[in-house]
Amino acid sequence: MHLRRGRAVNGYSASSEMLVEVRGLRKHFDLRKGLARLVSGQEGHVVKAVHDVDISVRRGETVGLIGESGCGKTTLGRTILRLQEPTAGSIFFDGQDITRLNDAALKPLRRRMQIIFQDPYASLNPRRTVEEIVGLPLRLHENRSSEATRERVKVLLERVGLRASHIGRYPHQFSGGQRQRIGIARALIVNPEFVVCDEPVSALDVSIQAQIIELLDNLKRELELTYLFISHDLSVIGYVADRIVVMYLGEIVETGTRDQVLDNPCHPYTQSLLSAVPQLDPQSRQARIQLKGDLPSPMRPPSGCKFHSRCPKAMKICSHVKPRIYSVSAGHQAACHLYEESTR
Ligand code: SF4
Repeated sequence: MHLRRGRAVNGYSASSEMLVEVRGLRKHFDLRKGLARLVSGQEGHVVKAVHDVDISVRRGETVGLIGESGCGKTTLGRTILRLQEPTAGSIFFDGQDITRLNDAALKPLRRRMQIIFQDPYASLNPRRTVEEIVGLPLRLHENRSSEATRERVKVLLERVGLRASHIGRYPHQFSGGQRQRIGIARALIVNPEFVVCDEPVSALDVSIQAQIIELLDNLKRELELTYLFISHDLSVIGYVADRIVVMYLGEIVETGTRDQVLDNPCHPYTQSLLSAVPQLDPQSRQARIQLKGDLPSPMRPPSGCKFHSRCPKAMKICSHVKPRIYSVSAGHQAACHLYEESTR
């Protein structure tokens, strides 16, 4: 797959309104139970899956969220949708603070925010027909007759490249790609505005991945959707995203437009991700940057810059001072001491 599509990107204008805004978002998991929580200290028991994250998504935009497995991407996506409760911070959807809304207040908003899951095998109930699976969100959110729901399911199945006659089948009667199309139909049946696509192609064969990405791209334009597209694969993100957000150990380390991040990656972590992407053009090939070791445990993250234990450009300051986010150019930011005036 090419790193980016050939046509012009940025399916949004500079004046596009903000649909999702997240400020200082934290999602920590306390692994202690009961009394142990009260009597022991905090350190070593709390997984900081998402820590002080700011992210915004304009209406009509696709923001690509990239990082290694276990860096907190999925937790961030689910917390934004309030499928998991945030530990701290604020989430705004279409200008409304939804951080602490109760279930009743959230219900009308839930249909406007949907998710497409990573695993099309695990996310579909094997004992339900396609009609029941895809129609369920509609039954939860609208008081439609069974006949009206059935007709809507048929329309959606055809829209995602399946046949209306598939409506009575069960998930095991479909291929992996077809199952993901069912998952997409289920997310779209309530006419959402914002969709979190959580690694929607990573469980699929490479030959099928391109078809599903093309489908999501077409649906986005036809239905005027806004995506937060999560992936560990920079080839996929480079193809779909208008803007790219890079995450490492629960924190954002670089953000910029797709071209800013791909043409001029500033954070050493982004540089290493980019160096690992196979290039068809020999002129564009660069030496692969091998990182030291594995992703550290989010329970005991390194001090200072969390990337310092693996960073090929680490300096003395990096092990004890956490870098703030520096502006590299308009709309392009990186959390790295290399961009601090005094260290340049
Ligand atoms: Fe590397 Fe230091 Fe920049 Fe962290 S702050 S990415 S360790 S150079």
